[in-house]
Amino acid sequence: MQPGQIVPEISFVPGTTSLRITSRALATADHQAIKQPLERAEAPLAAAQVSAELGRIEGVAFTALSRAGRLVEARYHAGRDKPVMISGGQHPNETTGIVGALRAAQVLAQRPGAHFTVSPLENPDGYQIHWRLRASNPAHMHHAARYTALGDDLEYRTEEPLYEKSIRVQAERLSGAKLHLNLHGYPAHEWTRPLSGYVPRNFAMWTLPKGFFLVVRHHADWRQAAEQLTASVTARLAAIPGLLETNQRQIALFETHAGDTGFRLVNGFPCLISADDRHEVPLTLITEYPDETIYGEAFITGHTAQTAFVLAAYEAYQALASV
Ligand SMILES: [Zn+2]
Repeated sequence: MQPGQIVPEISFVPGTTSLRITSRALATADHQAIKQPLERAEAPLAAAQVSAELGRIEGVAFTALSRAGRLVEARYHAGRDKPVMISGGQHPNETTGIVGALRAAQVLAQRPGAHFTVSPLENPDGYQIHWRLRASNPAHMHHAARYTALGDDLEYRTEEPLYEKSIRVQAERLSGAKLHLNLHGYPAHEWTRPLSGYVPRNFAMWTLPKGFFLVVRHHADWRQAAEQLTASVTARLAAIPGLLETNQRQIALFETHAGDTGFRLVNGFPCLISADDRHEVPLTLITEYPDETIYGEAFITGHTAQTAFVLAAYEAYQALASV
């Protein structure tokens, strides 16, 4: 389905409640904000800073155009390591992955032999909706911003014109990567929606926080590599101060109010590992950090975890003998 960007914009005004439905032309203007120190960013980065931080990473620039006409930017940093694709902002209301992708790529770019692509903001049109909606409701999760200006999820787009999706196709082609690190998030403080009666199909499992969650998708013959990588990455993440405690606190709350999580825990991290031949790349690790909508120290902790994940997965993958 590509119904266009459907944006419920709720504003508070005195007087009678009213509903207005308007259509707007596609636009490419971006919200502006002051530059933040990347490692200590307390809120989402302005799109201009995402571009500037990406510009600091040495490598071949490649781009795509979004549906609205915004530039989707990426870098290919070639080296002798096994190549890895890093992406963020497929769902740009999941904001810690955008910062985490940039931070990790900047660290990797300083290492001899590093070999990766990075596209930190795959859906710039959705990102601007998120900025617009946050102005009036800064603490809501803003699901509308998940989608592109076509109203779809870019990952599931298979037909030309590919628009934003073309950045992934190019990243695969340039790097030949067999591992994709795809950074995402989910609601961090959502406790009313499960009781609201309007949870869309397939979204129920993402309505409550349950820690830093990993989704692993692998081609059938990559099962062993997927298991080994998951074990190794979660063991490395478990060493980060405070992260396991946050997981345990959220999982305990989940179980108190919603029952058994039903998820497998690997080294204290909830994981969903499944065979999936839909992707070109045989192994995809998806992070789900509870980050909609957090700020300040919580935001820093979130993009620090995303950064650590990318570095852990990159290192563990290089050490994997079977691939
Ligand atoms: Zn997502």
